Amino acid sequence: MQDKSFDYIIAGGGMAGLSLGFYLNESSLKSKKILIIDRDEKTSNDHTWCFWENGKSDFEEIIFRCWDKFWFHGTQDFSELLDFDEYQYKMIRAIDFYEFVKSKLEQNSNFKFLQADISSVENKTVKTDKGEFTANEYIFDSFSRKEYDNPKYHNLWQHFLGWVIETEDAVFDSDEMTLFDFRIEQMDECRFIYILPFSENKALIEFTIFSDNLIEREEYEENLRIYVSKNLQIENYTVQETEFGIIPMSDEPHTQTKDSKIIRIGTSGGFVKPSTGYSFKSTQRKLKKLVEDLEKRQEPKLKHRNWKLYLDSVLLNVMQDKKHSIDDVFTCLFKKNKASRVLKFLNEDTSLTEDFSVMKTVPLKPFTIAAFHTIFKKIR
Ligand SMILES: Cc1cc2nc3c(=O)[nH]c(=O)nc-3n(C[C@H](O)[C@H](O)[C@H](O)COP(=O)(O)OP(=O)(O)OC[C@H]3O[C@@H](n4cnc5c(N)ncnc54)[C@H](O)[C@@H]3O)c2cc1C
Repeated sequence: MQDKSFDYIIAGGGMAGLSLGFYLNESSLKSKKILIIDRDEKTSNDHTWCFWENGKSDFEEIIFRCWDKFWFHGTQDFSELLDFDEYQYKMIRAIDFYEFVKSKLEQNSNFKFLQADISSVENKTVKTDKGEFTANEYIFDSFSRKEYDNPKYHNLWQHFLGWVIETEDAVFDSDEMTLFDFRIEQMDECRFIYILPFSENKALIEFTIFSDNLIEREEYEENLRIYVSKNLQIENYTVQETEFGIIPMSDEPHTQTKDSKIIRIGTSGGFVKPSTGYSFKSTQRKLKKLVEDLEKRQEPKLKHRNWKLYLDSVLLNVMQDKKHSIDDVFTCLFKKNKASRVLKFLNEDTSLTEDFSVMKTVPLKPFTIAAFHTIFKKIR
């Protein structure tokens, strides 16, 4: 690349980096010179992004599927088909997202793409294996990752393996997804199955664990095999695609760098909700606000809401110290509240009063102890 100097450099062109490019291109800042660097070409369908929202998405054109109802199979014999109510659960295939955003940005000659390995980001400069590039205004870092190993905090992982299977017979109801099926061996962790049915004979089935240690690939596969054959009673199927993921569930602060011209976004910026691992929707919300700040020539501020973070920490504390089984915690939440209220709470859209009314429905003793332990842990 001839050009070495840009207004903005987006280091890491995955979900957050490309979303930022998308919002910049929709704004008055589209005349800025912007470079997006990623080591990958982004030509494979490496993620399935889901989120729930009320109304239209900024990516409505590429919504692959959406659902109005979901199954929840929990403890206490609670198995119900629940309504998303005012929300819709939406799914975007990563490949559609990459192509959609890139095709928009490629129409603007101010955007440049570079496939390169980034080695460092400092002093207005991004160093890569294809040379060094300077940002006159901001560098947005979405590629760097923390270790998540500070014992002062709760550091767990959401890890999963998903199979897109095609069956010979029509076995799925494509209107009903499964958000949680906890009717599997918990192994003293939090384990569940998540199903996105695309048609009567095609679905993504994901085996997910919330824990502080990972397992061997064969163990995920074995759990999927058992679930498909025993729980779903499907014998004749082929696995067409797989999706593996490890997402941090951590309340360790994602501090911004001392350099105010380097802004961390996406997972690097702590956009992943610690208690759920979801980040697609909040990333869009945060980056839209960031672009608005830039348009007003204000220093972009990425505020984390301390109260919501504290609630996440309390759940992580219950999880990490095994104070109560998490399948039962989620069952209490979905049994005692309207599903849409829980989803609003998990999206961090609830008021303080609503937060307390939701928190009243979880097992009180372990959560009260966890609430204190979380404070002591932070003070120490
Ligand atoms: C398989 C999977 C499924 C998920 N599903 C959901 C979901 O359904 N809903 C939801 O809300 N969240 C989901 N998440 C969580 C989260 O939304 C995603 O992880 C999301 O991709 C995070 O966006 P990001 O931009 O922070 O990271 P990424 O999308 O991973 O982007 C980081 C980019 O940096 C690049 N990069 C890394 N290192 C370098 C380097 N040294 N040099 C150059 N480039 C580099 C990578 O190639 C990548 O493109 C999922 C996560 C995974 C892993």
